[in-house]
Amino acid sequence: MPILDRNSLDLLFDALKRRGFNLVGPTLHDGAIVYDALASTADLPVGWTDEQEGGRYRVKKRADEALFGYAVGPRSWKKFLFQPVQRLWQARREGEGFRIIPEEEKPPKWAFIGVRSCELHAIAIQDKVFISGPAPDSSYPTQRKDLFIIAVNCGQAGGTCFCVSMNTGPKATAGYDLVLTEVLEPARLAIGADRHYFVVEVGTDRGAEVLRDVPHTEATEQENAAAERVVEKTASQMGRTLDTTDIKNLLYRNFEHPRWDEVATRCLTCANCTMVCPTCFCSTVEDVTDLTGEHAERWRKWDSCFTMDFSYIHGGTVRSSVKSRYRQWMTHKLATWIDQFGTSGCVGCGRCITWCPVGIDITEEVRAIRETEK
Ligand code: SF4
Ligand code: SF4
Repeated sequence: MPILDRNSLDLLFDALKRRGFNLVGPTLHDGAIVYDALASTADLPVGWTDEQEGGRYRVKKRADEALFGYAVGPRSWKKFLFQPVQRLWQARREGEGFRIIPEEEKPPKWAFIGVRSCELHAIAIQDKVFISGPAPDSSYPTQRKDLFIIAVNCGQAGGTCFCVSMNTGPKATAGYDLVLTEVLEPARLAIGADRHYFVVEVGTDRGAEVLRDVPHTEATEQENAAAERVVEKTASQMGRTLDTTDIKNLLYRNFEHPRWDEVATRCLTCANCTMVCPTCFCSTVEDVTDLTGEHAERWRKWDSCFTMDFSYIHGGTVRSSVKSRYRQWMTHKLATWIDQFGTSGCVGCGRCITWCPVGIDITEEVRAIRETEK
């Protein structure tokens, strides 16, 4: 496999920029690692990692200069492909009626840098929903079209990760143009100075074409083995597990399980779990007009099955209790999603556990139902 040294990563970024790509990747902002515009590798969270537990997230310094030495942060890539707030169209009064002015979309050519395996699976799930699902979206396919993906195999698992249980990681298997495994070898294990390099796997012809612009060598057997060990170690460190055996029918059999009442005493219906989830796709539309009544706009905004308005139909909210809203969310993720799209709606990234203010843990809720099913 090809191998890039640490400094050649900037040359890879330059090769993408020359092709008109806008680079987005992990950056350190306000005490969290979030995806934002990248100019060079200096913008990456060099030497930072994260600690995650239920309802808890902290960044802290690492002992080395790893570029991708963290798990996942609060923002997922869906922010770029399925925007949180988006104008769908405008209308101007003309005579007795209105003329609709559709939005002219000229999305940037995105290059996502540092996509994790669970996130590749999440993008594939949103592709099913927005491109090949029963109600294809008008905007998502345009944003998605030219996307170039550099994935990174995880070098450490977060405290709330459970991708191994969901068969979604930690090693990327599909859906990328290039995938990197970051290897840091301290001097005591190598001859001479510390070594910092990336073992590269090529996923597409486009990926191979970009890589040809960047100086690289072929990895030795030892270097390939070092990359394999990185992923194996991560897989052995998973913070959580989720038993998915017959999970769809488990949840279908347990609509009236008392655990839903119990979790409702803790859930704040804040919707954090749905906002951070890389696969949740619910939205609402709002129409606004100016004071003259000459101009109107329709906006789409992310919404959540945890809000009261989301299930408001004909003068009432269908899911008025906290219990019914939490049950709807979890049962959709892990059961009805399979009927709708042929796959689980959960990729085991752990974000909903980390960013739940009261630390509600989807793996623990499933375990509780499984262990106490009557
Ligand atoms: S349900 Fe939770 S763990 Fe699963 S994909 Fe969504 S945020 Fe990640
Ligand atoms: S499960 Fe947690 S994050 Fe989700 S709505 Fe309830 S309190 Fe908020």
